[in-house]
Amino acid sequence: MKKIFAFLLCVAMLTLCFVGCGETADENKGNADDTTVADDTTVADDTTAADDTNKVIKMATNAAFPPYEYKEGDAFVGIDVEIATAIAKKLGYTLEIVDMEFDSIITSVQQGEVDFGMAGMTVTDERLLEVDFTSSYATGVQSVIVVDGSDIASLDDLAGKKIGVQLGTTGDIYASGDYGEDNVTKYGKGADAVIALKGGDVSAVIIDNEPAKAFVAQNEGLKILDTEYAIEDYAIAVKKGNTQLLDDINKALEDLTADGTIDAIIAKFIKAE
Ligand code: GLN
Repeated sequence: MKKIFAFLLCVAMLTLCFVGCGETADENKGNADDTTVADDTTVADDTTAADDTNKVIKMATNAAFPPYEYKEGDAFVGIDVEIATAIAKKLGYTLEIVDMEFDSIITSVQQGEVDFGMAGMTVTDERLLEVDFTSSYATGVQSVIVVDGSDIASLDDLAGKKIGVQLGTTGDIYASGDYGEDNVTKYGKGADAVIALKGGDVSAVIIDNEPAKAFVAQNEGLKILDTEYAIEDYAIAVKKGNTQLLDDINKALEDLTADGTIDAIIAKFIKAE
């Protein structure tokens, strides 16, 4: 009886050792410093990707921000999607996109649910306290959308007006600071702020210039003011302290800039005026 018990104990210990070793291997395989991502190989097994490896890198985004990220049918498309795909390929990963509210992206990166966040995301001092940012790959400008014939012609005219923004964006942060929280209505999606503008619920929408152009092109009777509210750098957010992934992405970005890939991707989605 004692012998059987000792044998079972041995088997149990060996099993534990194997499980432990497996985790380490998985951790080393992934670039993420968080096991929840690296261990999540079932996701890779579920995908139909032709790639025969199961190395997946997860990106959090908010696919309602054309031309950086949006959906065409079930497919994710846009500048960030293509740049992220090129980065993943360079690093030997299959890209998996996790679509969420913009406001949840940083938390998701911090908690290691995803490896990085890419969503036309502006580098700000506040966000730098929460995540690390790669080098910048694009520039954004905060723009103001109004209806044709609006009496708002400049930033000064926004005082006391109802302003629509996308929750948690720099447009939200700046507008709330400059014009007062009471005057700012926050929507989950930029498109919903634009619908509110068309419906007369707000008098202006503050949002990044490229999505602004896309929304104005899709909707009659809107225009963008000839003014730049703020000029910003877009970068990719990674978990604080994950210097390996930060360095790898920066190196990939450097290569993709040098060989013209980044410019070509941006030019594909943003036509020169
Ligand atoms: N650039 C803005 C920000 O980082 C908006 C980004 C977005 O809505 N996807 O806050």
